[in-house]
Amino acid sequence: MNYVITPPAQVGIPVLPAAGGGLFPVHRIYCVGRNYAEHAQEMGFTGREPPFFFLKPADALVPVAEGETGVIDYPTLTANFHHEIELVVAIGQGGRDIPAAKAAEHIWGYATGLDMTRRDLQGEMKKLGRPWCIGKAFDQSAPIGPLVPKSRTGELLKGAITLGVNGQTRQKGDLAELIWSVNETIEQLSRAWLLQPGDLIFTGTPAGVGAVVRGDVMEGNIAGLPTLRVAVR
Ligand code: MN
Repeated sequence: MNYVITPPAQVGIPVLPAAGGGLFPVHRIYCVGRNYAEHAQEMGFTGREPPFFFLKPADALVPVAEGETGVIDYPTLTANFHHEIELVVAIGQGGRDIPAAKAAEHIWGYATGLDMTRRDLQGEMKKLGRPWCIGKAFDQSAPIGPLVPKSRTGELLKGAITLGVNGQTRQKGDLAELIWSVNETIEQLSRAWLLQPGDLIFTGTPAGVGAVVRGDVMEGNIAGLPTLRVAVR
């Protein structure tokens, strides 16, 4: 049967050319909320609560090549557009009920990503007990650097994660400070959904989230991955 309208393009994110190149086809984007203690505190929460998840559409991704500056438009409906630097995990092998001890076998690679957030809209939705979609899952809300295979990086369990805006450090943490480790996150996610090849997981952001305005340039760095640079237009 023919499609009755032109089917949407498959979203793909580039693999680092020096690591073999090619495109990684994206299925879903899962995101973990409040996964670094200090960030949970700055959002008004304390202690280790069970992990919780939200999703972004795959076509919210804005791939940015190494050495380039990606551009995103300042989104509509907000006056408080926040950056959240995050380690992104790419699933190469799907599964259900994956134990944490086996989770690393399902990881294809890693990238540096930004979980851009319309914080004012997210806040309103939280207050009303409504879904976060309008605050989190909007167009261009997920800039992402090149994907680097795990075969090249090894398992990323520790290392600095930072974000600067116009050269000034805003967010600073270490991957070792994740409340729910990547492996535990995969265990929990795969109980709730059938993980599939092509799924991405945004693993949460360290403390220091804040607003950007038009003209700002964000620079995200995670030890072992290429720099992600994104300008707001
Ligand atoms: Mn986030």
